[in-house]
Amino acid sequence: MQNYGKFYQKPWEERINLIKKNEKLTEKQIQILETAAQNKTLGNTMIENYITDYSYPEGIAFHYLINNKDYIVPMVTEEPSVVAASSHGASIIAKAGGFFASTSERLMIGQIIVENVEDTENLTKKIQKIGKELLLVADQAHPSLKRRGGGTRWLKTRILAADLVTIDIAIDVQEAMGANMINTMLEAVAKKLEELLNQQVLMSILSNYATECVARATCEIPVELLAKKGISGENIAKKISQASRVAQLDPYRAVTHNKGIMNGVDAVVMASGNDWRAIESGAHAYAARNGQYRGLSTWKLNNNCLIGELELPLPVGFVGGSIGIIPLVKVNQDLLKITSAQELECVIVSVGLAQNLAALLALVSEGIQKGHMRLQLKSLVIAAGADAIEEQTVVDKMLQAGKRDLESAKKILKEIRKRDKNAGS
Ligand code: NDP
Repeated sequence: MQNYGKFYQKPWEERINLIKKNEKLTEKQIQILETAAQNKTLGNTMIENYITDYSYPEGIAFHYLINNKDYIVPMVTEEPSVVAASSHGASIIAKAGGFFASTSERLMIGQIIVENVEDTENLTKKIQKIGKELLLVADQAHPSLKRRGGGTRWLKTRILAADLVTIDIAIDVQEAMGANMINTMLEAVAKKLEELLNQQVLMSILSNYATECVARATCEIPVELLAKKGISGENIAKKISQASRVAQLDPYRAVTHNKGIMNGVDAVVMASGNDWRAIESGAHAYAARNGQYRGLSTWKLNNNCLIGELELPLPVGFVGGSIGIIPLVKVNQDLLKITSAQELECVIVSVGLAQNLAALLALVSEGIQKGHMRLQLKSLVIAAGADAIEEQTVVDKMLQAGKRDLESAKKILKEIRKRDKNAGS
C-alpha cells in the first residue's frame, strides 16, 4: 500500500505528484488527469480527495410537447442512441397531442428507527401522544422550510419487529430534494425522543422510497402514427401492448424494460444536477411495490389508440444540493425553461415514457440493434484507437463487412493505416 499521507489536506498539485510517484501511469495518462481537471475549486468544494473532472457528453432531445408547452430537453449520458431515441419517441407523441403530466405533493418521508423496544404497542401509543410536539421540534430545526409553506405534514409509526419501530415523518420539501434538510430535522426529533421517552434511536435518515412524491405521464397515440416500414400501426401497437404485458409478468424482462425508461430519466436527472442514485433506488423499489418487480410503464390498445402511462417517484430538486453550485445546471434549467421542481418532474416522467416508447417500437419492429448500429460502431471504432478522420471510414467498412467487434475494428484500422501509408510513400 503506497503512502498517500493525509491526501485530503494536500493541494491539488501535490495530490497529482503523489499519484505520479505511487502509480504506474504513463506521462500521457498523467497529462489526461491534469488537463481534465478544469474546475479544481468546484471539484474541491463538491467532493473529497478531488483529482480531476470526469466529463460526460450532453445532448438535446427535441419534440417534447408536455401539457401543451414545448420543451427542448438537455440530456447527459454516455450511451449512444439515447438522445436520438428520446427525440424519436417524443416526436410521435407530439403528433398525437403530446404528454399529459401531473405530480403529487412533494412530500418526503424521514425515518427514525427506534431499537431495543420492550413493548412496541405501548411505544407506538406513546409516540402518537407526543406526535404534535415531535413535529414542532422538526419544524423548528429548519424553520425556513415552514416559512416557505413547507415543513412537516404527518407522523406515523410502523412496527418492524418485536424490538424495532420506525417513526415515519412526512415533510413537504418545497423546491428542494430535501435530504439534508430532513436529516437535520430528524436528528433533532431523535434527540427529543431520547429525552422524552428514554428510548434508544438506531438511526435517523430520509427514505429514498419517495412514495409521496410521485409524477405521472400519459399519452394517447392513434395507431396509424406507429406504422413503420411495411408494418401496420395497428400491428405495432398490438406488439407494444403485448411487450408491456410481458414486462408486467416477468421480472427478467421488467428490469430491462425499466432500464430503457431510466436511460431517459437518469440523463435528465443528471443534466438538472440531481441525485440519480436516489431516483434509481426509489424507482426500482416502486416497480416492486405490489410484491413483484414489474415494468414501471404500461401500454394498452384501446379504440385504435395506444395508451401509454408511466408513474414513478421523482424527488428531484430545483434548488439545493449541487444544483446551485454547478454553473451548467442553471444553463440547463434555462434551456428547459422550467420554473419549479414539479415542472421538472413532469419533464422527466415524460422523457421516461418517450424513451420507453422508442425502445419498444424498435424492439417489436426491426430490433434494437439495427437503428443504433452506426452509433454503437462509432464508439467501438474510437475504442480501437481511430481518430476523427479515420472513424468514418472504419465504420463504413465494418458495416459493409457486417462486423461488430473490437478485434475487427482494430484489424480494419490497421489496414487503412497501412493503405494510407503506402499511398503516401
Ligand atoms: P440542501 O442541503 O442544499 O438544502 C436545500 C437548500 O435550498 C436550503 O439551503 C434552502 O435554504 C434552499 N432553498 C432555497 N429556496 C428553497 C425553496 N423554495 N424550497 C426549498 N429549499 C429552498 O439540499 P437538500 O436538503 O435538498 O439535499 C439534497 C442533497 O442531499 C443532494 O445533494 C443529495 O445527493 C444529498 N444527500 C442525499 C441523501 C440520500 O438521498 N439518502 C443523503 C444525504 C445527502 P434554507 O436553508 O434557507 O431553507
